[in-house]
Amino acid sequence: AQEHMNNSEKLSVAGQLAAGIAHEIRNPITSIKGFIQLMKSGFGEKQKYFDIMASEINRIEMILSELLILAKPQSVKYEKKDICVLLHQVITLLDTQAILNNVQFKTEFTPGSAQIYCDENQLKQVFINFIKNAIEAMPKGGEIRIQISNDENQQLRIRLIDEGCGIPKDVLSKLGQPFYTTKEKGTGLGFMVSKKIIENHAGHIHVESEVNQGTKIEITLPVLG
Ligand code: ADP
Ligand code: MG
Repeated sequence: AQEHMNNSEKLSVAGQLAAGIAHEIRNPITSIKGFIQLMKSGFGEKQKYFDIMASEINRIEMILSELLILAKPQSVKYEKKDICVLLHQVITLLDTQAILNNVQFKTEFTPGSAQIYCDENQLKQVFINFIKNAIEAMPKGGEIRIQISNDENQQLRIRLIDEGCGIPKDVLSKLGQPFYTTKEKGTGLGFMVSKKIIENHAGHIHVESEVNQGTKIEITLPVLG
């Protein structure tokens, strides 16, 4: 956890992040600059250039909006929430994307049993990140099982189980590293941001994965005592 880090470790994480941000944002900017140059010289199809430039700007926006979640601790508001309700809202939000990708949700929980103190928007962000990853891991469709269980030690366990491509060992060890992605349009920030949010909620994330079988993400959070 962050508070256990000494100053030099903090600096290196910040430095690593800064280098990543600089790199990730410089690429689309370089490309936009190139297209402006081309347009100035009156060369080629303007409409096509506009489309590419717009998609590069979208990419910068995507990266910045994910980073801003990390940069806004002052707006965090912890409230008593039912995690089942929260998960259902996230599922509703992602339903269209799931249907388009032939993905079914299977919820294995009943509402009203799991109250925790949390920042609703941040936790939603975590579930959105993980469920999106699950959908993206199943290009041919499949099932995402969502389970909630309450164990003796006042811990709430939320499991997200997909039937996707799975995560190879070398990728598994890089999860949570900023900007590490295997996707053409990925930002490689989802996992890092999610891990940070769960740690801020005094929770843990545990990942189990089998290539070509699927992935299980287990989130443990303290229950309202
Ligand atoms: P992004 O989704 O933008 O690539 P993430 O931080 O969310 O970034 O994930 C990092 C990488 O971890 C992904 O590029 C992918 O290779 C791998 N990954 C994460 N979740 C899954 C999953 N459920 N199934 C397979 N691979 C996954
Ligand atoms: Mg992701």
